[in-house]
Amino acid sequence: MTAAIIGAGPAGLMAAEVMSAAGQTVHVYDGMPSAGRKFLLAGRGGLNLTHSEDFDSFVSRYGASRGSVARWLEAFGPQAVREWAQGLGIATFVGTSGRVFPRQMKAAPLLRAWLHRLRGQGVRFHMRHRFAGWTEEGGLRLRTPAGEQVASAEAVVLALGGASWSRLGSDGAWVPLLAQRGVAVAQLLPANCGFDVRGGWSAYFSSRFAGQPFKSVAITAGEFHRLGEFVATATGVEGSLVYAASAILRDEIRLRGSARFEIDLLPGRSREHVLREVAHPRGSRSLASHLKSRLGLEGIKLALLHEVLPRDALHDPDRLASAIKAVPLVVTAARPVDEAISTAGGVRLESLDERLMLRALPGVFCAGEMVDWEAPTGGYLLTACLASGRVAGLGALEFLRSRQNLAR
Ligand SMILES: Cc1cc2nc3c(=O)[nH]c(=O)nc-3n(C[C@H](O)[C@H](O)[C@H](O)COP(=O)(O)OP(=O)(O)OC[C@H]3O[C@@H](n4cnc5c(N)ncnc54)[C@H](O)[C@@H]3O)c2cc1C
Repeated sequence: MTAAIIGAGPAGLMAAEVMSAAGQTVHVYDGMPSAGRKFLLAGRGGLNLTHSEDFDSFVSRYGASRGSVARWLEAFGPQAVREWAQGLGIATFVGTSGRVFPRQMKAAPLLRAWLHRLRGQGVRFHMRHRFAGWTEEGGLRLRTPAGEQVASAEAVVLALGGASWSRLGSDGAWVPLLAQRGVAVAQLLPANCGFDVRGGWSAYFSSRFAGQPFKSVAITAGEFHRLGEFVATATGVEGSLVYAASAILRDEIRLRGSARFEIDLLPGRSREHVLREVAHPRGSRSLASHLKSRLGLEGIKLALLHEVLPRDALHDPDRLASAIKAVPLVVTAARPVDEAISTAGGVRLESLDERLMLRALPGVFCAGEMVDWEAPTGGYLLTACLASGRVAGLGALEFLRSRQNLAR
């Protein structure tokens, strides 16, 4: 009996690993010329593999889907990810933020070692094979440079990714293919994404400050409050702190058309302190040099105050101090999913059994980002992709074994 895995990202490769380790013949198909392209891109940012926080905190990052994700992680959690990397000769370390990275801060050595091990376990790779749905007889339609081919497999793991960075292979084109077969799919949405500010920045602000960071600030959006940094873009904001708030902002925009958050430009100083310094007599000095010398406020932070506040507020110490501690910013659109770090939505968890097999398509399993869960950055994405790949791979193995027993 044969197994096909479609999608050679971390989720699909992990499914291939557990199946081939058990002696199962596995064929991996992918539309791209080589495996793991998004995984390699993640390596450019240091490859944050997982996080070292305690299990309950870790699981809480998956929000509404934490119940299902916790089951995957109980079998293959953050510590297992580190041991798995170590097994491939890649030592990891815990960074100051608790995030876990490979010592070399790269994905390529890990991916190379992993593919080598998989080939050694007999996994057959078929690149430039793009899945285009099923034939009437249930064969897998694969578009290749040599034309369409049909493959048959008794068990199939789909690990087709989300819809961000489509040039790396994952474009969400699988959504109608599954929907036509009766699978419930939640709309794919940007996650860990940037936003456009209402009305755009002024020409002055975007030409001078796009690409520059807001460092050591805090964002408050409803119940969300966190310290960190983010970056101004030509039309809005992006970067780690904005990504962390992105699910809240995105959902608010979908509900009300816009979302508002506040930026504390000086989270280390109290409002009273800021007011005292702002109100300090400044003589003939300009407001800019006053704020710089009394509070160290300059550059993009000062420019944001000019961008957002009416002129009279800039010269009213009380209003200015309030704004420094909570500059309001309104965003009206999430950036397109193709630009996002990850994708929310996907195959609904109710469409899958606990082995991640589609209830509507027995023998077909799903794993990774194409399943409907989301998480912030911090290693939570890769960990859940790997863990779900393992669940789906083991589920497919069990399915094949029960078929074999029936055939005897
Ligand atoms: C810039 C960036 C940085 C990131 N950094 C991190 C990080 O540090 N830590 C972290 O945890 N996560 C990070 N991520 C997210 C992480 O890379 C993804 O969550 C993860 O790669 C998803 O794994 P996957 O196997 O589900 O899908 P993918 O990695 O997207 O793989 C899916 C595969 O399926 C193939 N495919 C798709 N459709 C078809 C089709 N129809 N036919 C055949 N093949 C198809 C694709 O070519 C691809 O190879 C980052 C993402 C980005 C964009």
